Amino acid sequence: MSKKYTVITGASSGIGYETALAFAGKEKNMILIARRTEQLTELQKRIQKQYPTLDIIVKISDLSDKKQVYGLYESLKQYDIETWINNAGVGASGALMNNDLKQIERIIQVNIEATTILSTLYVKDYANVQGAQLINVSSAMGYVIALGNVAYSASKFFVSVLTEGLAAELKDAELQAKVLAPALTATAFIQQSSDSELDYKNYQLRSPQEVASYLMALYESTQTVGIVNEKNEFILSNAIFPV
Ligand code: NAP
Repeated sequence: MSKKYTVITGASSGIGYETALAFAGKEKNMILIARRTEQLTELQKRIQKQYPTLDIIVKISDLSDKKQVYGLYESLKQYDIETWINNAGVGASGALMNNDLKQIERIIQVNIEATTILSTLYVKDYANVQGAQLINVSSAMGYVIALGNVAYSASKFFVSVLTEGLAAELKDAELQAKVLAPALTATAFIQQSSDSELDYKNYQLRSPQEVASYLMALYESTQTVGIVNEKNEFILSNAIFPV
């Protein structure tokens, strides 16, 4: 039997990094994707030291570049991928009229374009493979309009709708499509995408380890959505948007 792999995009830091450690704990072979080689190889070595029998592959790819996105998927055709996690994402905050347009383009390219292309390619190949799962990382801001982050929020609505819609389309197929919608998490992301007006010390931040444990709970469930709701609790639920 061929080896099975879990793909994690954005595994070089934050939620993706911790998710890779959590999947290592489940003895999963993995393909770890991001742009930063040093961080990914450090993670690869860390996992291989603790779990020497696991096959951990590093792929460097800039997901804001559509050609690299297609090339990445093509380079993974030889692997049997049981789970695909689209976690890589970027943000921006402040009123849209003040946002750097290049950053808005990156939001569209990474959060929307790469997630859609990789989800579609994976579903085309694995819709009828037993046990296959696609998990897309959205955000609680992908379920409520987050003022001060509207482009990011809109990009995550896209991720939520795409994934919930896919789950409905696949109800008679083998592959399960799921969406994780975390709330504010203490990662580099919130510094990179915040403006100086926002003081995150006033918010309750989750740790990336805790969010990785939410992703694992979603992975192990048959529910479609794992979300931090308006009561600030993590819950597993059916699809939220009406079909
Ligand atoms: P993070 O630590 O900044 O991680 C983002 C990951 O995405 C990094 O591994 C980064 O890797 C990768 N990435 C960014 N741009 C990329 C590109 N062009 N090509 C390839 N990889 C790229 O932030 P995080 O909080 O863990 O974010 C993970 C996901 O959670 C994102 O989708 C984010 O929207 C979502 N989320 C975060 C929060 C939060 O408060 N932190 C809340 C809800 C949802 P490289 O830089 O090495 O490429």
